[in-house]
Amino acid sequence: MSVDSGADAGASLYEDQKKIYPATVSGTFRRLKWAILVVGMAIYYLLPFLRWTRAPGQPDQAILLDLPGRRFYFFFVEIWPQEVYYVTGLMIIAAFVLFLMNALAGRIWCGYLCPQTVWTDLYFAVERIFQGERREQMKRDRGPWTFDKIWRKAATHLTWIVIAMLTGGAFVLYFADAPTLLVELFTLQADMTAYVWVAILTSTTYLLAGFTREQVCLYMCPWPRIQAALTDEWALNVSYRVDRGEPRGSLKANKKLRAAGEKAGDCVDCGQCVAACPTGIDIREGLQMGCIQCGLCIDACDAVMRKTGQDIRLIGYDTDINIERRERGEAPVFKFFRARTMVYVVLIAVVASVMAWRLGTRATIGLNVLHDRNPQYVQNSDGSVRNGFTVRLLNKKAERRELALAIAGMPAGTRLETSSPAKTEGGALLLPVDSDQTREVRVLVTAPAGAALPVSQDLTFVLRSPDGEIVNTRDFFKSP
Ligand code: SF4
Ligand code: SF4
Repeated sequence: MSVDSGADAGASLYEDQKKIYPATVSGTFRRLKWAILVVGMAIYYLLPFLRWTRAPGQPDQAILLDLPGRRFYFFFVEIWPQEVYYVTGLMIIAAFVLFLMNALAGRIWCGYLCPQTVWTDLYFAVERIFQGERREQMKRDRGPWTFDKIWRKAATHLTWIVIAMLTGGAFVLYFADAPTLLVELFTLQADMTAYVWVAILTSTTYLLAGFTREQVCLYMCPWPRIQAALTDEWALNVSYRVDRGEPRGSLKANKKLRAAGEKAGDCVDCGQCVAACPTGIDIREGLQMGCIQCGLCIDACDAVMRKTGQDIRLIGYDTDINIERRERGEAPVFKFFRARTMVYVVLIAVVASVMAWRLGTRATIGLNVLHDRNPQYVQNSDGSVRNGFTVRLLNKKAERRELALAIAGMPAGTRLETSSPAKTEGGALLLPVDSDQTREVRVLVTAPAGAALPVSQDLTFVLRSPDGEIVNTRDFFKSP
């Protein structure tokens, strides 16, 4: 049985991807994008080489994700695996910052800061260097494969691959001592994992920035859908001023209309805004999912407006409210301080404050306790009951310390013992832990015979540092 309906037979459900050749523009937003690109890339490539003085024996790299050592160094902060909630906190702050940016000025993240946009912009620039401007590129792509076309294409792709390799190369420098790893990478002495990651990032950068480009924003990235649900009528978005631009027409036609006393728009229908758009959309058709809010059409249109002697910002950052107000002949209003933005600011401040407070007051010792699962208790021949625990002690200071482990909540006569070498002091075990290290010990808690204990008794492990810091962990003591 066929489901084809005559004329549609053989037609594809999917439109072929058309290559976009964005025209070069100059202006405020282009300059801003260049500045962000240069600063952003400088930070990305140079940050791994920034040094930070720490205690002897600790790495001196300012930002280091030390996976073998299970530490994350961020300037003066050292995060242990047990403190991964700081990373969660950072991600929550990043999400709220993104929401706030969206509430203030739409997809500015997409247009200016997203790595996909930044690297694609750089790849466009490389394309222009070797293959010329938009028209030249389009003409060459339609033409036959001449020597001129081949060497220009080859130079473009070679440069793209070098940029992609530098991108992947810089990424792995965040995971080891950067100067050492850099030398190892070039002398082929680095670990195979490093080469694998460089290869993965090289290929993804080359593919995403060189080929899929705006397709990533249109089809792969979830943010356009999310932001569409989060935006409101007060958010600034790149918009075409319909009230001023329409009816559009050539400069000559518009002049004639005006001379005849009829309404004529400022848009001369030159198509420069569409030609400049890296996602190939026509902003005059209204706000669209494909618009990444990069502002390049504003620069393109401003140049046309200047050339034709008209006011600039026929396309500009505007709000839905103002578009409606202008249509009614009312003056535009901007409202940056509103409930939505204030809620985001408060949430960012709260999460940041909690994190800062936790960081400022966090203990330099830590304690994790794991009760034996099987058997949960052992009854000795003298009637006493014994429970076994695996205890991990954390010493986050850059000096070896003797930590005192004790228990609380158990009846008098309960003993705390370990098979590891340890001194005792007032019922506590004194366990030395090396600087910036963890130590695992097996401990046994034995309740005396005749102690009237329930089946499960709350028990607290207490760890004390020589400086007087105390941390507690609650567990339970099992009895028959
Ligand atoms: S319509 Fe304008 S702001 Fe939107 S993506 Fe295209 S050039 Fe950028
Ligand atoms: S660049 Fe400006 S004048 Fe030209 S088509 Fe676009 S909106 Fe109209």
